[in-house]
Amino acid sequence: MATDDTSSHAKPSTRNVQHVVLGNLRFQTWYQSIYPEDLVSKETDTLYVCRWCFRYACDVNTHATHTKLCPHRTTPPGTKVYDNGGYSVWEVDGADHKLFGQNLSLFAKLFVDHKSVFFDVVSFLYYILVFTDPNDPDKSYHILGFFSKEKLSWDANNLACILVFPPYQRKQLGKLLMGVSYKLSGWEQDSSRIGGPERPLSEMGRKSYGRFWEERIARYLVLLSSNTTTAGESEDTKTQKSSSAKGSRKKITHELMTVQEIGLATGMLTEDIITTLRSLGVVEPASPSKTREGASAESEAVPLVVRRSKVLDWAKSSNVNLRDPVRDEGFLLNHLSAGVVRETASLGSDDDE
Ligand SMILES: [Zn+2]
Repeated sequence: MATDDTSSHAKPSTRNVQHVVLGNLRFQTWYQSIYPEDLVSKETDTLYVCRWCFRYACDVNTHATHTKLCPHRTTPPGTKVYDNGGYSVWEVDGADHKLFGQNLSLFAKLFVDHKSVFFDVVSFLYYILVFTDPNDPDKSYHILGFFSKEKLSWDANNLACILVFPPYQRKQLGKLLMGVSYKLSGWEQDSSRIGGPERPLSEMGRKSYGRFWEERIARYLVLLSSNTTTAGESEDTKTQKSSSAKGSRKKITHELMTVQEIGLATGMLTEDIITTLRSLGVVEPASPSKTREGASAESEAVPLVVRRSKVLDWAKSSNVNLRDPVRDEGFLLNHLSAGVVRETASLGSDDDE
């Protein structure tokens, strides 16, 4: 698991490939990958990788010949599922595009510290993040990163591995991919599917997801305060629900919420919510007097409640970007989940980092 953090990389001596050339970018690798030794020697300084299909060559001429003929040079493989502001996400089925899946995995391993399931591409879907510059007359596209997902996950994992390629990191693109992964899992079979990334998370994964979850919860609670709710709403909010027309909104006033309510609305696992809220110091044990009727009726209810104003205070003081990096209108699927809150209403700051 790697997203937007470049710290703590492996020492050069442990890596088989020192640098990669991807398109016209040359950059250092971080970890050892498992390229076949007869094709990529253990002491490769520079590996040339096709930026469209991830086919690799040690020889620059072989690489140049390929890029002229690459079957994916004009359009990515798979199906476009999201498109907004020049960024698109394409779903690539590993069973339909085995070589692509394998070559992408080999390349990704240069920047990811673990993962053993590398050639089992058939049982994975790959979601590649693509940027197309609207001002580029050639409409040439760049793949910036991806996440993978097991087709069948018993643990409801919505993501197996995520990587934003090093030259494109620190642009909030990891959050875009994580947001897409939650949105897509919200649309699966049962519409209110709750999931999260595969465990265990790496240190980088914990850090990236930690911030993503904090913002996701804060965004939900801010929207709840300033808008009507759409999902996971309690009896309190139902009675207060008003038209969403501007000027007729009523404030949602209840201060204590259960972890389950937040989970239903955000599609997040209870454990992830609790971890996140604990780190913010805004969670407290529920006492019968504090818990609103019905809120703790579920048998598996975790006896914890969240003090909403504390989350809002935190969001304010830490400059949380309330604009969701994922835009609902960007999805090209025609079914919206009833179980996942539509959280893209523009509120507050529209600044993207
Ligand atoms: Zn290619």
